Amino acid sequence: MTRTFEIAVFEGDGIGPEITAPTLRLLGALAARSEAYSLRFTPAPAGAAHYARTGESLPAASLATARRADAILLSAMGLPDVRYPDGTEISPQIELRKILDLFAGVRPVRLRAGQPGPLRLPEGAEIDFVLIRESTEGLFYSQGAGVVEQDEARETLRITRATSEKLFRFAFALAARRKAAGRGKGVVTCVDKANVFRAFAFFRSIFDAEARAFPDLEARHAYVDATALWMVQKPWEFDVLVTENMFGDILSDLGAGLMGGLGLAPSADIGLAHAVFQPCHGSAPDIAGQGIANPLAMILSAAMMLDWLGETHTLPALCVDGDRLRLAVETVVTNGTALTRDLGGRASTEAAAEAVARALAP
Ligand code: NAD
Repeated sequence: MTRTFEIAVFEGDGIGPEITAPTLRLLGALAARSEAYSLRFTPAPAGAAHYARTGESLPAASLATARRADAILLSAMGLPDVRYPDGTEISPQIELRKILDLFAGVRPVRLRAGQPGPLRLPEGAEIDFVLIRESTEGLFYSQGAGVVEQDEARETLRITRATSEKLFRFAFALAARRKAAGRGKGVVTCVDKANVFRAFAFFRSIFDAEARAFPDLEARHAYVDATALWMVQKPWEFDVLVTENMFGDILSDLGAGLMGGLGLAPSADIGLAHAVFQPCHGSAPDIAGQGIANPLAMILSAAMMLDWLGETHTLPALCVDGDRLRLAVETVVTNGTALTRDLGGRASTEAAAEAVARALAP
């Protein structure tokens, strides 16, 4: 029996539509060959350009589409020149995390042996770790509520027990799945600044309490500053890292750098009932409309979506296709013949996506 999944598609701003179109074609081609599942895409207009046109950044109808969907695929939103009256940018992608309670920001950092990257790795070493960024509170809790006075500005960080418990359970469960699949050592590291801030000592104490429920996994602690150092010095040693929102925001760009740039960095924001899949990069207005954007991070995010749907609905065919799509992207990156400019090549968006389609062909 074929199971149909509804996918809400936020094609967003800037390069968003350019990288969304080929990604949907690849997903459509995979689904067309499957007897186990099909995908139905529903557009969800939102973002900065939509706000400039209509005065609405996240229309109720688009939010309803997202709530109804089995999964949400999002490119990037925001344009530096389009702002709310308070001077902040239009960012429905951040609103969605809060509205849909997408507490776990999952940022895989993966560099296969032989794949070009900025670091010289030891012979045979690969980078394969996952950074989990809490995505609904932390310092971002203050978004839109910071206080600015004549000579002083304040933003307040918030960490709650309820969200931290869900977050750490998610991190340990992910490490257990990775260990079972032979992809990780079963080590979860809580990344914090517990040596200075009470809020992080609280965060760490909740981590330690949750760790007791996973005796087969190893729970470690690390300070965020040391973690930034080790991500450059020995990133192949990490397995699962879990951290606060702002720390995760910064470290995930460092993770993208380890892979060779934002154009290769996928992500997912996952909650108990909904999940959004989107590249780590923004709308890249400096190259929008030229057909040169790298579609690979978006395609890798779509692969994560297939994995998540497969795991959530116990439908292995989706996980198999998620793996195939990821491997096809890795093949294109390793071959190096159809890379976009950000990766040192000359291929167009369409040519890079076409190379992925060829690598996928049976
Ligand atoms: P950005 O990620 O859009 O761009 C940073 C640099 O990386 C630019 O030089 C850009 O050309 C390049 N780049 C990014 N993605 C690329 C791709 N796929 N292929 C090739 N090059 C790529 O970050 P920014 O310039 O700081 O932000 C631009 C806009 O995007 C802003 O309005 C910002 O608020 C928004 N933004 C949105 C998200 C999101 O939707 N999740 C994330 C970050 C920034």
